[in-house]
Amino acid sequence: MNRKDYDSRILSSKKIVIKIGSARLSGSEEEVNDFLFNLVSDIRHLKDQGKEVIIVSSGAIARGRKLLASLSNFKQAGESLPEKQALAAVGQNRLVNLYDSFFSKVNIPIAQILFGVVDLETGEGFKNLKNTFGQLLQWGILPIVNENDSVATEEVKFGDNDVLSAIVSLIVEADLLIILTGVEGFLKDGKTVPFLSEVGDPELSQAGGPSGPGTGGMYTKLKAASILNEAGIPCGIIDGNSKNCVRRFLETNTLGTLVFSNGKEKSFSEEEIKAILRSKRNGGQE
Ligand code: GLU
Repeated sequence: MNRKDYDSRILSSKKIVIKIGSARLSGSEEEVNDFLFNLVSDIRHLKDQGKEVIIVSSGAIARGRKLLASLSNFKQAGESLPEKQALAAVGQNRLVNLYDSFFSKVNIPIAQILFGVVDLETGEGFKNLKNTFGQLLQWGILPIVNENDSVATEEVKFGDNDVLSAIVSLIVEADLLIILTGVEGFLKDGKTVPFLSEVGDPELSQAGGPSGPGTGGMYTKLKAASILNEAGIPCGIIDGNSKNCVRRFLETNTLGTLVFSNGKEKSFSEEEIKAILRSKRNGGQE
């Protein structure tokens, strides 16, 4: 099957989840502003076409660290769990304020959703989360999701927002997940692999860990894509630094790596989504 065969499917996606990593939000002010300016104009364009968008964004810890580093009488925060959780508490509201300052310019109201694995364990939590997403989207509000880092303890953390973005895609029954990263896509022998119909051990063993301030790296991006592959939800892993990447991915499908196996249109039940979460907690690199 040719990648071109998937063009119209990608272009006609109605509900789109976009995952943004910490690295996109922790460069110089100019870099972050450029990135957000492009993102916001792409999302405005998508919304004008009647599409629904959900953002899963990391960056709370990175923004918190940035703020503390700017305070003259503050010693650099370390990498311990309490320090990271406190940094997330410092950075999360600043992260969302940053998004708001950009999205309000193009008249897109935003909402913040924070949750962790434990919140999904009860039927109530799962149902409430799904309802909240549904209501926000119906109102035309753009949800911005992160893990509830200050509450989650290490063993129950999603641990990386790539898998969180796959879980969100399953909960909202998205048509497409786009993961914005700092490289061109999944690289094999130095070259971008444009299309994968499945993710197996050979691909996972070629994928590296994180190279920047995030926690995932290519390994967890491919893991997220493989979870969605079973549900028949395509996942694009693309370079978030390239101009208007979201719009170009949708319209030309020539960027990065597309992971998609057609014909597996399985809808995941609440129990199955929870089983994925449990397996996340019980080991694996993630
Ligand atoms: N939730 C963390 C944050 O906002 C990041 C997790 C990740 O890097 O994927 O800082």
